[in-house]
Amino acid sequence: MFAANRELSCVALGQTGEINFATGFLDLLGVHPVDEKRVWTDPWAGIDALVQDIPQHPYARLPQEDIQSAFEEILNFLEETGLPYNRRMNQNSGVLTSLGTLKPTYCVPHSMWNGVDALEKKPPCLLIDIRGLKGFSARQIAAALQNEWPALRTARVSFPDTDHLNEVFTEHMASALIISQNREKLARAMRPHIKDAQIVGLPAILGLYRTLEVVSNLQELFGVPLFEIPTIPPSVPGLRLKEAFERGLRAKGVDYFSQNRVFEVQHKSDGCFELGIGKMAPENTVQSRGIILASGRFIGGGLHADRKHIKETIFDLPVCQPVNRAEWHHRDFLDSRGHLVNRAGLEIDDSFRPLNSSRQPAFRTLFAAGSLLAYNDWKRMKCGAGVAITSAFGAVKSFIRINT
Ligand SMILES: Cc1cc2nc3c(=O)[nH]c(=O)nc-3n(C[C@H](O)[C@H](O)[C@H](O)COP(=O)(O)OP(=O)(O)OC[C@H]3O[C@@H](n4cnc5c(N)ncnc54)[C@H](O)[C@@H]3O)c2cc1C
Repeated sequence: MFAANRELSCVALGQTGEINFATGFLDLLGVHPVDEKRVWTDPWAGIDALVQDIPQHPYARLPQEDIQSAFEEILNFLEETGLPYNRRMNQNSGVLTSLGTLKPTYCVPHSMWNGVDALEKKPPCLLIDIRGLKGFSARQIAAALQNEWPALRTARVSFPDTDHLNEVFTEHMASALIISQNREKLARAMRPHIKDAQIVGLPAILGLYRTLEVVSNLQELFGVPLFEIPTIPPSVPGLRLKEAFERGLRAKGVDYFSQNRVFEVQHKSDGCFELGIGKMAPENTVQSRGIILASGRFIGGGLHADRKHIKETIFDLPVCQPVNRAEWHHRDFLDSRGHLVNRAGLEIDDSFRPLNSSRQPAFRTLFAAGSLLAYNDWKRMKCGAGVAITSAFGAVKSFIRINT
């Protein structure tokens, strides 16, 4: 998006990655230092502290004005594609997870924003879950919050026309809610439970597309405001983000090769790259003056771990990692220090170029962005989308500077 907005001709490709599973929240920085579990209300003050303590963190490569500009640009883009977000400029907001825990985040999908206000004011609220939907229990969320939010009630309803099924899936329900008759049926099932509730929370299934329309219509039918709560993967808000990028980038003239991957890459003597891309085998050749490698970690396939080492899968770049596999994980899964494997990744220079084994940029115009960057334990720091967005911004800015 940053490249297309600067009128660079671009090709984008990739298959399933972390974004498909993500909650939809855009975190900037929530926690630092991880082992102290220090939660930051002001993410900008948190970033100041983080870059002092971990000067190799990707945020340390950008002035805060660039981080702000990157968020501004991405939020405008998402709004234009029909997926608006809300935020407080200088403050994280508390949001609910599907377990009833709270987490700090920076930007909240519009369909979840009413929940931020409700969490602060704690009005009478009805939490609804769906019969057959695994991993989302309204009762569990209410039980986790019972001391601080006594006015929470719960109910379980059947999703329209699914009584014959043992299990229902978020993506199917989200697609079904595009049809107005299904929304009316869902509202008929939910209405008797609303009673004195001033707001209703439910799993994030309110439309895979056209979410604004689905939410506003259901609010009319319910007669009270609604908010979505993220589910465990597969996550509809993550799919919405992926779809919004694909649609929005195509509209900007980006050649989007959906479900394609890179099979081979060559660096030519003129400094350009030649990539063999395709679905199951190389089918097309892409020539480019630069590449932004945003191939993710183990889920996306940008990193691969064998019995001994973690490797970068496309260029075989050096991966910063513990010397021994025994150090990848602590014994306790929930160890408050986090696990070193989650900090493994590519080291970069100030222009977001990955380093080779001599600690020099591996190629003049190869840049790296996103979760495959080292020193970035995004799960614990709550900085996943923030690092992805801002490092992409930094990479594009550097490409333009180096290439002109
Ligand atoms: C369960 C879950 C919940 C999350 N929740 C949040 C949250 O609440 N807030 C937040 O800010 N972040 C969250 N995140 C993190 C966020 O999704 C990631 O930070 C972000 O998606 C990273 O983007 P990325 O592009 O670096 O990697 P990915 O999203 O993993 O994308 C990598 C892409 O590279 C492609 N690729 C890999 N190898 C090749 C190849 N050889 N050729 C071509 N393409 C290739 C993949 O197919 C994929 O399309 C969550 C992630 C997960 C998994």
